Amino acid sequence: MRLQDKVILITGSGSGIGRSTALLFASEGAKVIVNDLSVESGEGTVAEIRAAGGEAIYIKADVTDPVSVSAMVDDIIKQYGRIDVLFNNAGISGVGALHEIEPEMWDRVVNVNIRGVYVPSKYVLPHMIERKAGSIINMSSCVAEIGLAKRAVYAATKGAVLSLTKSMQVDYAPYNIRVNALLPGTILTPFVENYLRTSYDNQEEAYEGLKKRQLSGDLGRPEDVAKAALFLASDESKFMMGSPLYIDGGATFG
Ligand code: NAD
Repeated sequence: MRLQDKVILITGSGSGIGRSTALLFASEGAKVIVNDLSVESGEGTVAEIRAAGGEAIYIKADVTDPVSVSAMVDDIIKQYGRIDVLFNNAGISGVGALHEIEPEMWDRVVNVNIRGVYVPSKYVLPHMIERKAGSIINMSSCVAEIGLAKRAVYAATKGAVLSLTKSMQVDYAPYNIRVNALLPGTILTPFVENYLRTSYDNQEEAYEGLKKRQLSGDLGRPEDVAKAALFLASDESKFMMGSPLYIDGGATFG
């Protein structure tokens, strides 16, 4: 078991990559705290983990809201005494070239994707600092490094998450806390299905176009990202600090 007894908080783990990661982590012995805004999705992940014999609880919190996040962290510390790994996974999309998106969309995407990394980290870090141990995984994206059409605000937020990761690593290395980032390419999740549905008339053609963006010729699957997250969460990656980890089928360098 690669994560035996590790206490791991995964934000936005009711769906997609977060859910897949929660299932994998639990199968590797972790005690998983499933966080999501959606109670139904979060409890769905927990039910799936328990059905497979794993350990998990669901806690509702909005990752942008200090009140609900600090209450969630207090609750975890009360129940488990520590948090070994924080996976800042929750995020939302925002489609459009810069002049096409409304200020409300800009604020919403910036809020969830950047503040949603800051707030959980702010309340988990003091506990990691106290124990001088921890691993934080931040969800960036390959759009932090490559230009993609109509992804302006989303790309800006994922670039910010990558910069934040490096800065956090410098500040927390003295406390034996590692902070790394995941940079997935296009992964087939409800997030991408929704993007196809709302952005294109011919979804099949758009899907074929998305596949061609990867050297692999296909989209990734949530499990592909979950396996990379497992490596960053485990002690096997102990020499990785402040690193971007690409899981993109060659989209970034192709
Ligand atoms: P998803 O939509 O399937 O899952 C995201 C989950 O986050 C949802 O369950 C949602 O309810 C939750 N969430 C949203 N806002 C929240 C909030 N304020 N507080 C708590 N939970 C909240 O998406 P996904 O594709 O699994 O994406 C997960 C992460 O991976 C996101 O950060 C996304 O930007 C990133 N990512 C996705 C892809 C992709 O192609 N799918 C590629 C690169 C990066």
